[in-house]
Amino acid sequence: MLNSDLRTVEIFAIGNELLVGQVQDTNTYWLIRSVTTLGARVNRAAIIRDDYDHIAEELLAALRRGPRLIITTGGLGPTEDDLTLRAIARALNLELREDPEALEMVRQRYAYLASVRPNFSAELNAARRKMALFPVGGKPLRNPEGAAPGMALDAPSAHPDGITTIVALPGVPAEMKAIFNTSLQPILAQTIGSGAYMEHALVLDKGDESRVAELLREVQQHHPLVYVKSRGQRTGDGPPRLMVVFSMGGRDLALIRNELIAAEQEAIAGLQRLGYRVVQIIEA
Ligand code: ATP
Repeated sequence: MLNSDLRTVEIFAIGNELLVGQVQDTNTYWLIRSVTTLGARVNRAAIIRDDYDHIAEELLAALRRGPRLIITTGGLGPTEDDLTLRAIARALNLELREDPEALEMVRQRYAYLASVRPNFSAELNAARRKMALFPVGGKPLRNPEGAAPGMALDAPSAHPDGITTIVALPGVPAEMKAIFNTSLQPILAQTIGSGAYMEHALVLDKGDESRVAELLREVQQHHPLVYVKSRGQRTGDGPPRLMVVFSMGGRDLALIRNELIAAEQEAIAGLQRLGYRVVQIIEA
């Protein structure tokens, strides 16, 4: 049984295009959402340049913090600026080697493309072979949507188990999601386990967060496992409204449900005393 306090995750989106505003980092949002719904906790997310020193620095700092899982996206492709695996190898002082299983995955991908595209060569040139250059100990993750396999590698860290699993995924969102949903699943099960997550949002008929702040602070104190958060909402010309969101992740769905509903009920009673009406409850 995995202790929920130990199921911690950090996410690094790697790519210069993200840091000049050419591409919006949607991968981090998707990964945070996906990992959270497995009941694990994301402690940190960062966007990093395609730069050996920057990647290595972030990685080593993360290993000193010791999350159970680090997920990177970006920089696995065939071009020279795709340097995530080399940067991981350099940071951990590991040799880079052509991984036969990864090379076979790359070969199969280009053979498939050559079979469906006229005049497309399946030849494994140096740029294509580069996608199979893995740090020693890295395990390839099949990419059902593209050529570059993902990679999973255990590294010594400050995590109480002594290990952080580093997972490198491609930057292309469809490939990143496809690996996460297929070949990464056994590793997610081993590291953060399958868990549960619940989220209920109350939409209130009036705005003004300051009027509910004291009440929500008390609800939060009474239910420390539940994350209680108010958010102002304005839709078009409509009146300002308030949303109060209750969320909790963990291993035990029954416990989550009990805690979350208890917090929600306490909040609803208090909100009614303050003259608010719940106009909608959104459950996720
Ligand atoms: P490849 O080079 O084979 O395309 P890769 O793993 O090297 O794959 P990148 O080159 O880093 O990936 O990114 C490829 C494309 O994926 C980017 O041009 C961008 O459009 C998109 N992308 C990369 N990172 C993100 C991100 N964090 N969020 C959303 N889209 C991203």
